Amino acid sequence: MEQMVILTGGRVVDPSVGVDEIRDIGICNGRIVPPETIPDAKREDMSGKVIAPGFIDVHVHLREPGQTHKEDIATGTAAAAAGGFTTVVAMPNTVPAMDTAERVMEFMELVAKKANVRVLPAGAITMGRQGEIATNIRELVQAGCPVVSDDGSTPQRHGLMRSIMQAAAEAGVPVVDHCEDVSLSKPGVLHDGEVAKKLGLPGQPRSAEEVIVARDLILAKETGCHIHLQHLSSAGSIEMIRRAKHDGVKVTAEATPHHLFLTDEACLKFGTNAKMAPPLREECDRQALIEALKDGTIDMIATDHAPHTEEEKSQGWEKAPFGIVGLESAVPLCLTHLYHAGLLDLNRLVALFTTGPARLLDSFCSKIGQSLGNLAVGSTGGVTVLDLETVHAIDSRSFKSKSRNCPYDGMRCKGQVVGIY
Ligand SMILES: [Zn+2]
Repeated sequence: MEQMVILTGGRVVDPSVGVDEIRDIGICNGRIVPPETIPDAKREDMSGKVIAPGFIDVHVHLREPGQTHKEDIATGTAAAAAGGFTTVVAMPNTVPAMDTAERVMEFMELVAKKANVRVLPAGAITMGRQGEIATNIRELVQAGCPVVSDDGSTPQRHGLMRSIMQAAAEAGVPVVDHCEDVSLSKPGVLHDGEVAKKLGLPGQPRSAEEVIVARDLILAKETGCHIHLQHLSSAGSIEMIRRAKHDGVKVTAEATPHHLFLTDEACLKFGTNAKMAPPLREECDRQALIEALKDGTIDMIATDHAPHTEEEKSQGWEKAPFGIVGLESAVPLCLTHLYHAGLLDLNRLVALFTTGPARLLDSFCSKIGQSLGNLAVGSTGGVTVLDLETVHAIDSRSFKSKSRNCPYDGMRCKGQVVGIY
């Protein structure tokens, strides 16, 4: 049966063409169509709401297969839908890791059965994500991976990373990198600063991220590979990326809400629910990230949704795993602290969740006849509906995610997600 709906009277914001106007939007079987072509469709009144292209999160951990006590494909994608995301990219650090075409296809079979939103798989760049032996990137791309990554870590041997980037450039796929030099980061559990000193805990210096950012930019220039740098935390990284973009290096970058809205001070208040990799840093870093959102040095906001159980998170600073959940808090936090705070206009904020991330997936999507992150006729990325004005508090008990590990519980927000189509 055909699924048809016309969303009427909403404020349509589509940064792909700079549209911001009251207009009706038709959707037929997951595709945007001119409303007049589906006159019999159900009509839904969207007056007072914002209609945006379906939001994309290029960085989530669905934990299935292997760690379904933390999250699974059904709950993770229910959290994505509740958070306003119609498309997510699942990181390959499942157990086992998504390092062969067979593993990717097994994962996509589970997705076909269970997912509530579109899920695109990231294939690993080294076998078992061990950082030793490169995977067959061509094969992973053929199996349906729009990007490849070892997220959670990165190959520490630069020669290996160079050959991976050469292979990725040949396969026409971006390498998505978690920038961390473990010889600098270990055994740190938070940012190497005053807060770490106060807590008497080992810190991770900014250099742990920055040396890998520098390496990746140098190798991207040399190999012609598109490098995408994940969850940036340090002002120094931003400066290097800004320069590299200016020099024409094929680089894109993401920031997470937690690095945008929190600093290492949060570790004092929220304990291990503020433990993440890379760590929350200082106010000067946070300001540099916001500046980078404004000037386009950072292309997209991604959540790095990383569910862990309460038990795992209550093992103390040294043992608790890194990461927080983010799918269901990202949009309200960004509306509150970026849009209502007057830092970004609505068009730019929507772009960070739509046209920005779509650029990372574009070459893959055009191969399979999909068009995401816009509301043009024929687009298959769905629609996200926002309410800009409602004031509410984040309540982790209402999360669809299996996990509750985040420092935002009870935080007041203005603006929320109404739903997705
Ligand atoms: Zn990561």
